Amino acid sequence: MKLSELGDLYSTLLEAAVDAIITIDEQGFITSFNSAAERLFGYSRDEVVGRKVNLLMPPDTAARHDRYLQNYLSTRKPRVIGIGREVEGQHRNGSRIPLHFSVGEAVHEGKRTFIGICHDLSKYREIVEQLEETEQRYRDIVESQKQLICRVDSQLRITFANASFSQVIGVQHDALMGLPLTEIADDDEHRLGHLLAGMFRAHGNLNEVNIKVTMKSRDSGALVDWSFKRVDGAGDPQEPELQGFGIDISQQEAALQQALYLRNHDYLTGFLNMRAFSSAMKAWIEPRRRYALLHLACGRFEMINRQYGYDAGDNVIVEAAKRIRLTLIRPNLCARTGSDMLVVIGVRDNEEAHDTALQLVQSLERPYRVNGSSLRLDVVCGIALYPADSASQETLQNMASSAARDARDHGATAAYFDADYHEDLKKQMEIEQGLKEALDNQDIEVYLQPKIGLDDHTVHSYEALVRWQHPERGFISPADFIPIAERSALGQKLDRYVLNIAAQLIARCRHQSRPVPVIAVNVTARHFSDLALPEYLEQLMRRYKFPPESLQLEITEGMVMQMRQTTTQVMERLRTLGIQVSIDDFGTGYSSLSYLSHLLVDELKIDKVFIDDLQSERGATLVRSVIAIAKANNLRITAEGIETAAQARILRGMDCDMGQGYFFARPKPGHEVLGLSS
Ligand code: C2E
Ligand code: MG
Ligand code: MG
Repeated sequence: MKLSELGDLYSTLLEAAVDAIITIDEQGFITSFNSAAERLFGYSRDEVVGRKVNLLMPPDTAARHDRYLQNYLSTRKPRVIGIGREVEGQHRNGSRIPLHFSVGEAVHEGKRTFIGICHDLSKYREIVEQLEETEQRYRDIVESQKQLICRVDSQLRITFANASFSQVIGVQHDALMGLPLTEIADDDEHRLGHLLAGMFRAHGNLNEVNIKVTMKSRDSGALVDWSFKRVDGAGDPQEPELQGFGIDISQQEAALQQALYLRNHDYLTGFLNMRAFSSAMKAWIEPRRRYALLHLACGRFEMINRQYGYDAGDNVIVEAAKRIRLTLIRPNLCARTGSDMLVVIGVRDNEEAHDTALQLVQSLERPYRVNGSSLRLDVVCGIALYPADSASQETLQNMASSAARDARDHGATAAYFDADYHEDLKKQMEIEQGLKEALDNQDIEVYLQPKIGLDDHTVHSYEALVRWQHPERGFISPADFIPIAERSALGQKLDRYVLNIAAQLIARCRHQSRPVPVIAVNVTARHFSDLALPEYLEQLMRRYKFPPESLQLEITEGMVMQMRQTTTQVMERLRTLGIQVSIDDFGTGYSSLSYLSHLLVDELKIDKVFIDDLQSERGATLVRSVIAIAKANNLRITAEGIETAAQARILRGMDCDMGQGYFFARPKPGHEVLGLSS
C-alpha cells in the first residue's frame, strides 16, 4: 500500500470512528480533529487545529494540562499516557462533557504526537443515573412498605430485610443480615424452617408457600402471615433465594379473637351465650362422669329494669355472675340467657347437685346494692342430671328449665327434673303454640248454646263457646286450653277472636232479616281488667252496627275475687256502653253474695255442680237461697248444666229465670243455630 493510500485509509477510519480522536503535538497544539470530535465539542476542525488543546477542557483541568505535558516531556514518566480514565471536557457552549479519555503516544517523522480518544460518557452517565434513581425508587417503595419484606439464602440466612422487618422484629438492619430467619421465629415445631428448606430441596418444583408464624418481636411476638417465593439470587442466578412477604396480622388476629369471643360470650357477664353453651357442653362432658345442669331462674329482673332502669338491671346481672363464679370452686361452664343463668358442674351424686343449687340460690338472693338502693332477686333453681335424666345437652337444658318452672310453681327453692311435670309443661307449650296458629288461621270455631226462659221455654240469648279441632290431638276441650291461653297473652287474642265472630253473627242476622240474637261471650280474667276491652267493644259496635244489648260478657266468679282497680273501671265503662255482664260458675269461688251485689253485674249463673245436687235436700236449699238473694239484688239468674226435665222443673219452681244445658240444647255451630245461610 502506498503511503498516500495509507493516509486516505487513516483519515477514513478517523472519520468513521464513533469516538472523538484528537492529536496534539508536544506543545499541546491540536494537529487533527475528527468528525466525532467536532460533534462532541461543538467546534469545526478549522477552528481548533493549531490551537491549544486546553480549549477543550474546563478551566480547572486546562490550567493543569500544560504542567502535565511539560512534566512528561522532561521526566518521561507517564501520568496519563496509556491509561484510560474519566475526565471532563468542555463543549464550545461551556457545558461540561463527561468523557472516558485515553492517550497514546506516537513518533512520526521525528516528531512526538499524542493521540487522545474521547468516549462520550454523557448517555452512559444518564443511564447510570436513571438506574440509580430507579433503584432508589424501588428501595423507597420496599422500605416504606408496612409489610415485612426479606430475602433468605439457602442457609435461610437473611440477605435483605426492609425497614418494617427490622422495626417489627426490633433488631437493627445490620444485625439482621446473615441471621437465620428461623432464629427470630417463635416456632417450637420448626414449621418455618422445614417449609423453607423444603422449597430449596424441591429445586424449583415448589415456588411459593404461605405460612403464619409468630415472630419474636419487641413486644410479645407478632403473628406474621408470610408468603415466600423462590427468586433468582441477586449475585448469582444459580443460587436461588427466597423472598418473603409478610403481613403482621397480630392486630387482625386480636380483633378476630375478640369478635370470636363476643360471638360466643355474653358481653355483660363473660359467661357463654346459649349458642356457644351447647357446643361447649358437648366438648366438656366426659361420657362416664356425672354432671348436673342447673338452671337458675332469676325473677324480678323485669321489675328492676322497669323501676330502676336497664343500667341497674345490668349491674345486678354482672354482680350475680360474680357471685356464681365465687360460689363454684370447681371447674364449670356458665351461660346466661336473658335473666337466667345456666351452670354445668361435675357432681358425685344428686345431693351434691342439690346442695350446690341451694348455695347458688342463697348467694344470688342476697341483696344487691345499686345506686344506693338495695335490690333483691327472686331465684329458683331447676336441676337436670347427666346422664340419669338425659345424655343429650339440648334435652338437659329443657329439663333444667322445666325443673326451674316446677320449683317456681311449687314455691320450692330448687327442684329436680320431674318427667310428669315436664310432660304437662310440654303439652301446655304445644297447646299454646298450636292455639296461636289456630287463631291466626281461623281454625277455631264458635258454637252457640241457648239460654232458655224457664217459664216459657223460649230462647232469650246464646252463650258462645269455642271449639278447637286440633289437627293431631283431635278435639281439645276449652276447659283444657282456656286456662293455658289465660296464662299467656293469648287470652286477649282468643277473646277478641270470639267477640269478633259473635259480632259478625249478630250483623249477619240483621242483614239476613233474622231476629237479632243476644250472644254472651266468655272473657278471660286478665283481659277483663284491661281498659282496652271496652274500647275494643266500642270499635266492634261501630264496625258491625249492632245494639249494645245484643252482646253480653261472662266473667268467672273466681276472677271477680281477684278484682283490681281497673276491673271496676272496666265494669263502669261497660255499664255506660250498655253491655251486660254475667258472673259465671257462681258458687265455686266462695264469694259472698252481698259482695257481688255491689258490683255492676246483671246476671248470676249458678254452676253446674249445684244443679247436679238439686235433688238432695241440702243442694236444693242452697240453690233456693242463692236465687232469693240474687233476686233481692235485682240480678237475673241462670242455672247452668240442666240435663233433665226434673232439674228444669225444680228450678222453675224455685223462680229461677233461665236455664242452659243439654236438656234444652247442646252447643252447636253458631250459623247453624241462628239459621244463617252461608
Ligand atoms: P262455661 O262458660 O261455664 O260454659 C259452660 C260449659 O258447660 C260449656 O263447656 C258447655 O258446653 C258446658 N255445658 C253446657 N250444658 C251442659 C250440660 O248440660 N252438661 C254438661 N256436662 N256440660 C254442659 P265448654 O264449652 O267445654 O266450655 C268450658 C269452659 O271453657 C266454659 O265454661 C268457659 O269457662 C270456657 N270457655 C268456653 N268458650 C270460651 C271462650 O270463648 N272464651 C273464654 N274465655 N272461655 C271460654
Ligand atoms: Mg260461660
Ligand atoms: Mg259456667
